[in-house]
Amino acid sequence: MIDLHSHTTASDGSLAPRELVREAARRGVRVLAITDHDSTEGLAEALEEAAKHPPLEIVPGVELNTDVEGGEIHILGFFVDYLAEWFQTLLRELREERVQRVYRIAERLAALGLPIEPQEVFALVKEGSAGRPHVAQVLVQRGYVKTMREAFDRYLRNGGPAAVPRKKLSPEGAIEVIRRANGVAVFAHPGLAGKDDLIPGLIQAGLQGIECYYLEHSPGQTATYLQLCKDHHLVSTGGSDYHGPQQGRSNHLGAPSVPLAAYEALKTVKQRAATRG
Ligand code: AMP
Ligand code: ZN
Ligand code: FE
Ligand code: FE
Repeated sequence: MIDLHSHTTASDGSLAPRELVREAARRGVRVLAITDHDSTEGLAEALEEAAKHPPLEIVPGVELNTDVEGGEIHILGFFVDYLAEWFQTLLRELREERVQRVYRIAERLAALGLPIEPQEVFALVKEGSAGRPHVAQVLVQRGYVKTMREAFDRYLRNGGPAAVPRKKLSPEGAIEVIRRANGVAVFAHPGLAGKDDLIPGLIQAGLQGIECYYLEHSPGQTATYLQLCKDHHLVSTGGSDYHGPQQGRSNHLGAPSVPLAAYEALKTVKQRAATRG
């Protein structure tokens, strides 16, 4: 079983890296990519824990959320050289921007009659990337909404009254960063982004894959993206985007199923990058 998309408490997942890895082992996952938003802080512990659960392998990854006209595009980076100092500096800047965004979201919420303290959000974040899911949790805690789902539907969804975009990175910029870190750049859950018209430009910019297998993709969408990958010689990846239990989504690790070939193709592309230097 292969799962090439997951989150820990290093971003907005609810399981600590070690817990996530143990959960993956329990479920029989053989290859797990950890792709926290703007953070690789979970990887060291995850790798340590995975060593206790052979044959489980960890793919070091990251997910960079970028803003485009009228929406959002998430770019996954697999096998990034995450220890590089320039890369960590950039991730720190992106996380700092997330902190600033929490203040702006709090202002919007106050104007909507739903005051929150940014500190309540940061208390949930610990050392990871502050995100809208943390804000959603605070809205639930305060009793403004019943569920995180309702918080997103009414206020935080893209284009929602309390959603504040982050202006830092374009998808082309994210692809460039991942390529510079010798990673493999993949368009995450394109079916959620609804920006298929941008894909040719992203391929021009160096995109190497598309996340085809994804729970919220219809069979038709999956087929379309698989064909696109075939036509453009891209890697077709897939994953659960698991954020832990009780994160407003009903998915679990290892679903949907992803062919082992996806992992093999990913490694091949990575090796090509490595030999090119
Ligand atoms: P952020 O990185 O702060 O923009 O938040 C992005 C995260 O919010 C995603 O990874 C999802 O976990 C979550 N999210 C985004 N949109 C929704 C939605 N409509 N319903 C539930 N969760 C969502
Ligand atoms: Zn997330
Ligand atoms: Fe995403
Ligand atoms: Fe994700």
